Amino acid sequence: MHRRWQTEFEQLGPCAQRDGDNIIYLLLTFADYEKHAVVKFDRQHCNFPFRPIKATVLHGGEYVDYFEVIRSLHSNPDASRLTEQVLGTKCLVCDSILCTNTWSPQTKLVMVRDEIAKGLRLKLRHGNRLMVRLLNPRVTKLHDEVWRYIETFL
Ligand SMILES: [Zn+2]
Repeated sequence: MHRRWQTEFEQLGPCAQRDGDNIIYLLLTFADYEKHAVVKFDRQHCNFPFRPIKATVLHGGEYVDYFEVIRSLHSNPDASRLTEQVLGTKCLVCDSILCTNTWSPQTKLVMVRDEIAKGLRLKLRHGNRLMVRLLNPRVTKLHDEVWRYIETFL
């Protein structure tokens, strides 16, 4: 299993860094938002690649489960609308490749990385939408339909 881990690490490219035998840190950059995220893959205790890798994201100084980080996107109706615009009917959480029922031993860490990047990007976009609503009182006076149209550009 060591070779597989090594190969997966190499596929992640120069933004990945190993820490011991079981941990890979990965820096994600969202250039258009001028933001970064640090993802931690930990294969200890999770029987990778037969079971999903443990993926956490640096959040307020500690590593928090990825699903915990994007949970607000799953439960908030505005966020769900954005998710639907971007991902169609696919659910960020229920259809995630990190779920035990969708995971397969062929699932690669680069695929997990791409999915996490997509989820975090959605979270940033949703943050922007909230910001516009909060900062501009005129926006909230707009008809809902007009707002939804504007929103598609955010
Ligand atoms: Zn769901």
